[in-house]
Amino acid sequence: MDQDSQPQKINCSICNRPLTLLRPDTCTDDKGNAVHSDCYVKSVAPDKPSEGVVAA
Ligand SMILES: [Zn+2]
Repeated sequence: MDQDSQPQKINCSICNRPLTLLRPDTCTDDKGNAVHSDCYVKSVAPDKPSEGVVAA
């Protein structure tokens, strides 16, 4: 019963995957929800042609 030994876990509001708050790839969206910075970029730039990025 040591589940509280780990830091608070928060899921990305966009992809719903776990965030690691200590990592720099975490940011918040306009609503203050914790999201991956990469997910946030995608959410604010939908279907924008990006060089070097290929959607599978
Ligand atoms: Zn995410």
